[in-house]
Amino acid sequence: MTNTGIFKLAIASGKGGTGKTLLSTNLADYLAQKQAVLLADMDVEEPNDALFFDAENKVITPQYKMIPDWQSDRCTLCGDCTRHCKFHAVIRLGDFVMVFNELCHSCYACSDLCPEQALPMKPYRMGETSHQLLNQLQLVESRLDVGQEQAVPLIYATQKYIRELENKPAIQILDCPPGTSCPVVAAVDEADFVLLVTEPTPFGLNDLKLAVDTMRQIDKAFAVVINRQGMGDDAVENWCENEGVKIAARIPYDRQLAEQYAAAKLAWRKNTALRKALEELAVLIQQKQVQYA
Ligand code: SF4
Ligand code: SF4
Repeated sequence: MTNTGIFKLAIASGKGGTGKTLLSTNLADYLAQKQAVLLADMDVEEPNDALFFDAENKVITPQYKMIPDWQSDRCTLCGDCTRHCKFHAVIRLGDFVMVFNELCHSCYACSDLCPEQALPMKPYRMGETSHQLLNQLQLVESRLDVGQEQAVPLIYATQKYIRELENKPAIQILDCPPGTSCPVVAAVDEADFVLLVTEPTPFGLNDLKLAVDTMRQIDKAFAVVINRQGMGDDAVENWCENEGVKIAARIPYDRQLAEQYAAAKLAWRKNTALRKALEELAVLIQQKQVQYA
């Protein structure tokens, strides 16, 4: 829990395409009509929340991770560093020590344990964070540079960026990467509560089970939002009931909603069913804010 008067709501899903971005962007915009809100796109490999807003005056901050920088003049080629790296990111090849930046997890082990201090850590650019303000909505979006593969360090750097903001809204919505692997676990790390977005199909249920399992393993409080309700069957509803999983809102399947989303338009003002779902979630957020205050 943040214990700072700030409520962090993560929006996640077991797979892509379930409506996570639809919910994140519309919920942030809906809440921002009455109060200051921060929306952070943590899907650093493919961020797209900003497409839904006409925000200007973007402030860009480059983001770096620390990697070891081999100093050949100090190195005795003892090979200790290759044994200490759990990620096989540093190897000795003849008279050279090579560091693979993409594999490095910035754990400092090789640098700290090198007997000759021949691996000092140096900053290495991995991506950037953009920050925009649109009335009461702050929009933060991080993006990996082309060729960069590790999402987790940039997700943590984004969380640090948000923590260090001078003007922090009391409600922060974190649009997480899809799936159940390390980037999602990192993205929900600081969240007080998680909404898992799913759809009423066999695929949706399968991936929801994985997502719920992940949340239980990392001990995160969560509830489910069913998107495109009416499109499939009742299996998700039945499974949630049997598992004691709360369904916080349902967004009915609506072709116009899908068309508006595809055109990167916020739909909540014109779509009554979506607005009703957002109203229900706003009440839930109020309750959770009190609970975690
Ligand atoms: S541990 Fe240090 S001295 Fe030994 S091979 Fe690696 S860089 Fe060189
Ligand atoms: S900092 Fe850690 S992950 Fe990176 S090369 Fe050194 S031991 Fe490996």
